[in-house]
Amino acid sequence: VDREIEELCRAVRLIVMDVDGVLTDGSIELTSGGAGLGALPTESKTFNVKDGLAIRWARRVGVETAFLTSRSSGAVERRAEELSVTRLVTGASDKAPALLALCQELGVAPAEVAYLGDDLPDLAPMRLAGLAIAVADAAPEVREVAHWVTDAPGGRGAAREAIEAILRTQGRWQRVVDHHMTEEPDEWRD
Ligand SMILES: [Mg+2]
Repeated sequence: VDREIEELCRAVRLIVMDVDGVLTDGSIELTSGGAGLGALPTESKTFNVKDGLAIRWARRVGVETAFLTSRSSGAVERRAEELSVTRLVTGASDKAPALLALCQELGVAPAEVAYLGDDLPDLAPMRLAGLAIAVADAAPEVREVAHWVTDAPGGRGAAREAIEAILRTQGRWQRVVDHHMTEEPDEWRD
């Protein structure tokens, strides 16, 4: 991460993540909904444990987190809950106003937001965010507007890479490491 990006990382108070293609590789598995014709399909997604730990740690050391997705699924609700994400915004068909509403609710300026995206619906919110991050396999237009492109692709450690860089720049990463060096009884446990 170069110096210019470090400057942008330092201002971050809220990390907003798209879900499909950022926290996952973009795959969506639909399973028939069990009993009864017309039962709703169940959606299953694969998340990355290293991403998940970083998401949880961010909030533990004082950086708020949010998932912002245009879809809705039980899998995302469950993931957000188990990672104690500050806010889960689903069904956001237009992500820029959704991001602004989220900022207002949390009392964070858009300039203090890091936004992780992968595809065209992320362009508008990325242009509002102080730090726009594209995953390695994002659409070319998304990589173009991003301040920084991760080495890792979506669902394969991109969120971990981004969050770790932000926390390191802010001097918060060492608190995470220190925490795991000790054997304090532990409100951080999964
Ligand atoms: Mg996406």
